[in-house]
Amino acid sequence: MKILCIGRNYEAHAKEFKNPLPAEPIIFLKPDSAILRNNDAFYIPDFAKEIHYEIEIIVRISKLGKNIEERFAHRYYDKIGLGVDFTARDLQEELRLKGLSWEKCKAFDGSAAISEFVSKEKYPDINNINFSLKINNELKQKGNTGEMIYSIDRIIADLSKFFTLKIGDIIFTGTPAGVGPVKIGDKLSAFIDNECFLDFSVK
Ligand code: ZN
Repeated sequence: MKILCIGRNYEAHAKEFKNPLPAEPIIFLKPDSAILRNNDAFYIPDFAKEIHYEIEIIVRISKLGKNIEERFAHRYYDKIGLGVDFTARDLQEELRLKGLSWEKCKAFDGSAAISEFVSKEKYPDINNINFSLKINNELKQKGNTGEMIYSIDRIIADLSKFFTLKIGDIIFTGTPAGVGPVKIGDKLSAFIDNECFLDFSVK
């Protein structure tokens, strides 16, 4: 399986780093070795000085597809959940200045924390889902899928032009504003509405 991620998909987050709004979805990938599940602890890697959290709605692909039309995209995923796209922000800035790709700062081991998935049918409107991240019980990020620049259906259409989507692939759909650093001892908890999807610590 593969993990496909969308960058700068919320206007307020793009602006917090003074980035321009993307004219099309920004795509990057993480390998399966990036996955952190079962609320296992996240270990801060020694190659980075500043690791940021990014809470994101994640989507599970349920049907093989290529060149999927946006109007049919809803048929290709069945479940959603929450993920944290851990990012080595200091390294990202270094890579960005050199014009290099993002793998080292975005795709390292443990950089894709994921929750259990639940049926998307649980939510009457996929484009109106509230989610949030707390650290040590303090609210750090909150978002609504309706604030995405590119909707889940549009993302699936776009990704499938370049990559065959396979059953079990996971899409990280971008983070709202409020990202920031984690430190050893932090406890992260993440919610869709008031339901807890993630609850793990940083070591
Ligand atoms: Zn992200």
